[in-house]
Amino acid sequence: MNATLGIDIGGTKTLAALVGPDGAVLDQARADTPAARGPDAVLRTAADLARRLGGTGPVGVGAAGVIDPATGVVRYATDSLPGWAGTPVAEALARRIGRPVVVDNDVNAAALGESWAGAARGHAHVLLVAVGTGLGGGLVRGGAVDHGARGGAGEMAHLPAPDADKLTCGCGRTGHLEGVASGTGLARAYRLRTGADVTGREVAARCVAGDAAAAEVLATAGHALGRTLAGLVALLDPQTVVLAGGAGSALLPHTRSAYAAERLPVHADVTLVPAALGAAAVAVGAARAAMTRRATRLPADPGPVDPSSRPRSVTFPHTTETEPQ
Ligand SMILES: [Zn+2]
Repeated sequence: MNATLGIDIGGTKTLAALVGPDGAVLDQARADTPAARGPDAVLRTAADLARRLGGTGPVGVGAAGVIDPATGVVRYATDSLPGWAGTPVAEALARRIGRPVVVDNDVNAAALGESWAGAARGHAHVLLVAVGTGLGGGLVRGGAVDHGARGGAGEMAHLPAPDADKLTCGCGRTGHLEGVASGTGLARAYRLRTGADVTGREVAARCVAGDAAAAEVLATAGHALGRTLAGLVALLDPQTVVLAGGAGSALLPHTRSAYAAERLPVHADVTLVPAALGAAAVAVGAARAAMTRRATRLPADPGPVDPSSRPRSVTFPHTTETEPQ
């Protein structure tokens, strides 16, 4: 069976999946990420899962942090993976498992996975927003992740947002979208309003149970997110917007109505849909990145190349011959 391995390295769990040519998950395995023991232990865990599942060809990895897509080195990471910044993930993992490794940011990988085989299947232009503890975004254009100049394109956490004035963002400033539309943001807003110190998940649960303050906090967050997404659709012109993450589903009804109200008529067919791949989204997208990256490597081979089959620079523009010299 021609299956590609994708690995999701997160702050708490590592999930590896064998993915078929149509995006189906054929087998998977997971382990706790030994984050506190440092990058070597994290990569050893990923390599163990890779050996257990097998697969053929390059291995794709979706990992937390800002990743340099050309080198697979972590440019920036949060405290969820101590010491992760600066780790040459692609090179170090390739050495451990003896296969080429392609690395991207986990939210970028999820966006690619949903675009290829999930909620936005068949759409080449997709914006994904992931609302968990924090807020992440990924942008797929022409069927490939758009990385921007340094791997950070599609991030929307630090866009200015309505109703975020008193809320501190993960970056330490106030007034940003993540400050209001994230699990942490829900918890902070609820504490400001009620004095109660609970998690964002608990705020969502209290809303379902009829807590009026929790309902207002969720409505405010969903409204801010929906308006911002409508603006991003005007800027980026995707075919579909995918909302992922645990807090994302809690915010979906408010986000959807604010998005629909704010969206321009020309974008009336750009739907906002919940993510469909669940826990496997990052691994599926990472596998897809490995499949397409394999194609972008062909021009480096010494043999003759049929011009009609010449690979286009769709996935990792930093590494192909079409990069401006
Ligand atoms: Zn910020």
